[in-house]
Amino acid sequence: MTDFDPSFALGPPALAAELAATRAELHRQQRLFRTAFGHQFQFMAILSSEGRVLDYNEQFAPGARLPRPEVLGQLFWETPWWHDHPDIAAAWPQRLLAASSGDGAARVYLDRFTSPDGESRWAEAAVHALRDEQGQPEGFVVQATDTTDQHRAEALRESVEQQLRNAQKLHAIGTLAGGIAHDFNNILGAIRGNLALALDALPADHVAQQPLAQIERASLRGRSLVRQILAFSRNEVGELRPEPLQPLIEEMVALLRPTLPPGVQLRVQLAAAMVWARVNAAQVHQILMNLSTNALQALPASGGEVTVGVAEQPDGAAHLWVVDNGCGMDAETLRRAFEPFFTTKPVDMGTGLGLSVVHGIVGACGGTVVVDSAPGCGTTVHVHLPSAQDGHESDAHPPADAPTRTCTGAGRHVLYLDDDEVLGPLVDQLLRRAGYRVTTHVDAQAALAALLDPGQAFDALVTDFNMPGLNGLDVIREVKGLAPALPVVLTSGYIDEGLRAQASLLGVHQLLNKEDLREELCRTVDAALRSTG
Ligand code: ADP
Ligand code: MG
Repeated sequence: MTDFDPSFALGPPALAAELAATRAELHRQQRLFRTAFGHQFQFMAILSSEGRVLDYNEQFAPGARLPRPEVLGQLFWETPWWHDHPDIAAAWPQRLLAASSGDGAARVYLDRFTSPDGESRWAEAAVHALRDEQGQPEGFVVQATDTTDQHRAEALRESVEQQLRNAQKLHAIGTLAGGIAHDFNNILGAIRGNLALALDALPADHVAQQPLAQIERASLRGRSLVRQILAFSRNEVGELRPEPLQPLIEEMVALLRPTLPPGVQLRVQLAAAMVWARVNAAQVHQILMNLSTNALQALPASGGEVTVGVAEQPDGAAHLWVVDNGCGMDAETLRRAFEPFFTTKPVDMGTGLGLSVVHGIVGACGGTVVVDSAPGCGTTVHVHLPSAQDGHESDAHPPADAPTRTCTGAGRHVLYLDDDEVLGPLVDQLLRRAGYRVTTHVDAQAALAALLDPGQAFDALVTDFNMPGLNGLDVIREVKGLAPALPVVLTSGYIDEGLRAQASLLGVHQLLNKEDLREELCRTVDAALRSTG
């Protein structure tokens, strides 16, 4: 703003006094204007009719302030604010045109601009035309508010909402898949058990041996799939205890090696000193299997290399990794890799559950998973597991009994209770084959009555958990009153920590997952018999 020109102060004293007063008034108004302009809450710029910055206030996000020489006298859209946003810079002349030909109402625009430290920020800008007494445009006023914080808050809220929606969706899928898998698990148990009986009953050279062996292989694949779905849908940790990791890796490698196609190397890189972590061994096995399977599947037909390693980190945590030099992942695959049911593989190769199960397990025991991958550059998955020192040291358990094939309970009398018509006869036969005497009941009351019959003399009770009327725990509660010393095994298609805890309150420590009936039944009954003498 130019100052009032004192050369007009000529003439008689009265006029001079009037001029002085006018001048004082002008100064006052100018001061008022400067104060208001300078302390205006928003950014404000006055532009000439062609768009040059005549003046502007400093009121803006502190990060957006530019040195005045870079702005004053410049065309507004050529100032550094727009250097990274040419589209918006290009829109400004149009905006001025619209303001000067419009009805005088301010127009509001959403803008991006760049702060002097290079950050891209958001603003809301309004522009209106200044007019002379004839109504001709003689300049413009631009006002703007930095809305970056609001914008970021809004974006954050949207992403949190999106995550919540995803979580709800996943939860629903998990519940659904878990329910199906649970039923399927029982069906598989029946298939596999009966298969074992059929295989045993046939001579080794029978023509049906080979197709039955194929069925068995397929059923094993089915079981591993069902386990993955259950692990995913239960989202539970299982029992955590300090475990050495090298043996788990060696075991997994021993399992995979015989299946490797020619040209594929599977190597291990194991720290010399034993690395311990507070985990569930079965779940670490699952992690290693899933990651190695992915790594092997990523290799080209010509072969490649997969390395599984473990080392202790300085903070005592365990670092597991699986590296392959296979196809790698593009950005989109990498972004979605942990999503359940996301797969880029053909139907018979992938379920899309591998990584989501890994993620679930690792998260549940307090660890982290990081994937490092690029197309054509292979993939490394890093898993960090909590150190064995975390949590309660007193939780350390002696190792579980190793599976044993010798049944010491042969000739003993087992009372077996299950309402399932398929599994009932199967368990009956499995036990008989192992030399037990078995009395099977499908009704709880009948089983309890049999217990009271002095002529029967049972050595152990095996009861299912899930039955109409009295459930397995109710039955065991009754049995504890009738025959407190009777060894008991509880079977269920789904054993979680809650069931384990309830059973343990009743003094029952032998729980058997129905899917493991075939492999574990005799051993578990044995262990129950031994534990109570
Ligand atoms: P699936 O293996 O059944 O497809 P996963 O959850 O294990 O399901 O993996 C999801 C997807 O992530 C795979 O389909 C694949 O595209 C990608 N992926 C996982 N591991 C690797 C790997 N080691 N190399 C390349 N791609 C991988
Ligand atoms: Mg997989």
